[in-house]
Amino acid sequence: MQISDYDRGMTSGRLLIVSNRLPVAASMTPDGVRLTPSSGGLATGLRPWHEQSAGLWIGWPGEGSWCSGEQRALLDRELDTRALVPVHLSPDQVDRFYHGFANRVLWPLFHYLIDRVPVNATGWKSYQEANEAFAEAVSAHYRPGDTIWVHDYQLLLLPMLLRERLPRARIGFFLHIPFPASEVFRILPWRHEILHGMLGADLLGFHTHAYLRHFVASLLHVDGLEVDFDRVRVGEREARLGTFPMGVDASEFERIAREPDVQAEAEAIRSDAGDRRILLGIDRLDYTKGIPRRLQAIKRLLVDDPELADRIRYIQVAVPSRGKMDSYQKFRRQVEESVGEINGAHGTLRSTPVHYMHQAVSLRQLVALYCAADVMLVTPLRDGMNLVSKEFVASRVDNDGVLILSEFAGASAELDGALVVNPYDVGAIAANIRRALAMAPSERHARMKGLRQRVVEHDLGNWAKTFLDDLALAGSAEPAFPASAPEAALLTSLLAAARGAADVRLLLDYDGTLVPIARSPGLAAPDAELLALLRALAALPQTHVEIVSGRPREILEAWFDDLPIALWAEHGFWYRRAPGEAWEAAAVLRPEWLKRVLPILEQFTASTPGAQIEIKSASVAWHYRGARREFGARQAHELRMLLGDALSNQPLEVLEGKKVIEIRLRGVSKARVIYEMETHALANAMVIAIGDDRTDEELFRALPASSITIAVGARPTRAKFRVDDHRAVRQLLRALVGDSDDTPLLPGQSALGEVSA
Ligand code: UDP
Repeated sequence: MQISDYDRGMTSGRLLIVSNRLPVAASMTPDGVRLTPSSGGLATGLRPWHEQSAGLWIGWPGEGSWCSGEQRALLDRELDTRALVPVHLSPDQVDRFYHGFANRVLWPLFHYLIDRVPVNATGWKSYQEANEAFAEAVSAHYRPGDTIWVHDYQLLLLPMLLRERLPRARIGFFLHIPFPASEVFRILPWRHEILHGMLGADLLGFHTHAYLRHFVASLLHVDGLEVDFDRVRVGEREARLGTFPMGVDASEFERIAREPDVQAEAEAIRSDAGDRRILLGIDRLDYTKGIPRRLQAIKRLLVDDPELADRIRYIQVAVPSRGKMDSYQKFRRQVEESVGEINGAHGTLRSTPVHYMHQAVSLRQLVALYCAADVMLVTPLRDGMNLVSKEFVASRVDNDGVLILSEFAGASAELDGALVVNPYDVGAIAANIRRALAMAPSERHARMKGLRQRVVEHDLGNWAKTFLDDLALAGSAEPAFPASAPEAALLTSLLAAARGAADVRLLLDYDGTLVPIARSPGLAAPDAELLALLRALAALPQTHVEIVSGRPREILEAWFDDLPIALWAEHGFWYRRAPGEAWEAAAVLRPEWLKRVLPILEQFTASTPGAQIEIKSASVAWHYRGARREFGARQAHELRMLLGDALSNQPLEVLEGKKVIEIRLRGVSKARVIYEMETHALANAMVIAIGDDRTDEELFRALPASSITIAVGARPTRAKFRVDDHRAVRQLLRALVGDSDDTPLLPGQSALGEVSA
């Protein structure tokens, strides 16, 4: 994982990670304190991030902290050397807060398993007290300028408790489990308190758009709070909401998968299975993971086709979890009875069909298992994300293996290429296993290639960086954007540096940057002055001009065809290197997706006078520039919500631009410009990027830190500089071609302000 590019300039202070458990479990041995790394998605996910950052991790160190005063001092010292801060909880507190409320009430309810919530739910008071204890610990270690990142369902009250103590702190919150539909959430007697607690954060992150939508609906139904696109007013403050699907450390899994001893272990697992195909399940032994129905599906396959008993081996690793809770002990007995029953009925003299292990495995064994499997079975009834599915994909450097994935795992919103299955439908699981076993190698490779691309590009580092970058912009303590202060001299000198550079790349957005935003997208053709300016820029030595626009190819080509510049159409989807060359596409929007989206857009166009639909080859846009301002914005809000729901399981994303909602394939953005540049070995070029809306922020985010990034208009931005409007942009560009003598670079007090770090 790469975190070195985490832009400390944006957040300046330390990162304080706060989670229920520290990423180690402490125990006392005769030789002293022993710290063992904990398992589970969150610990596995954030550990590398913490190790490489200069911050602190604050959390409960596990049951080992119930020791004498002297031992505890020893433990605290040991933790301190690893930048870990313990929150000591008494056994009684852990029992009521963690096992009692978090795991007995919130866990099943948020996973839609309402019948598992005890009739007499207890522990709320302890939950509050424990959250208070965390708030005390965090505020004791907080220094102004720090960023606090709170994690998960055990600490839903913490953001507001911290806000009360540290009104100006930058606080982020991420929920690692699903946020349920509001109809389920509002069953909770403490629903108001919980929503209020979460809203103390500046940025609230969820794995999927659907969870975010459920949260938005709960705010409305439970507290009457309206969300404006992605933000909600909380008194004087604003909390922002966002979707950040968590990834895995893909390069690390790849690296381990290529190790000779791991390959050898995988080979040993395969040869031990002989000519049997290997089905694999790896889960914490938790009732949300869908293991009983998965076993039923295996049983059904064996009943229907008894010969399969000698042709498949189903390996199920059930990692011990929450073993102290009665419900988990009972669940374990139920699973193990099922395994026994299947093996008893379908075992042969040569083998037993189910290899069941109730134990954790080492990381190397885990990767070897991933590599050995023919079919990976990930069929949770509900799962916030499910990292196992992504780790399996990341480990398959051979581009082989089939992933069967529950439609109720957050990962299914991203992993296009898996066989998606309803985990409640035993027949469907069985049918998909059959399909996976019969799948032709060419189809397996094609599917796995697509999956790998997604998992590698959206890895763990990308997840944390995206969240922290957005949090840096969302901080309520800071003004949303700095006041414009004329800093002409600074920018002029940067531009002078660009003039002397060996290779200058000018990446220019079009609408709102080079020309004003027009009422209709057809009314924004470039004027003669602009064309002359672009021509002059392109004629400068060692200078490449690239228009990076959301516009379709045809329009850009019609406008700029005879200019010697590169064109990027549809936010990086299409690239045309030079006039006369063919357009290169990232991917295309399939007609079946368009068929889903168009009727919704048409419905909204019909009810929104002045709105229009624009169909591009790789995306479809709904423009509401022509609509009445407030009504247009309200309709756009509704549309975005509706699309979010309708497309939650499609590989499509909904993007909001200036007076436009755009639907396109996930993973394509203006940031693609950078990948193209890297492939052409231009990483050392002096890059100047100018743009006016959110799609340009993706480009700014991806650019190397040395680039000159300029935002147009007053808005929160990660750009280094800001100018007022397209006129100021043109003045800058004129300065670049050395044509600024008769037009002063920045007349009077206009235009230019540096965005302070
Ligand atoms: N895992 C582990 N020990 C094992 C097997 C798996 O720590 O013996 C890890 C696995 O690699 C994955 C995590 O546990 O990173 C499980 O995360 P997931 O999101 O799939 O489910 P969760 O347990 O968080 O509900």
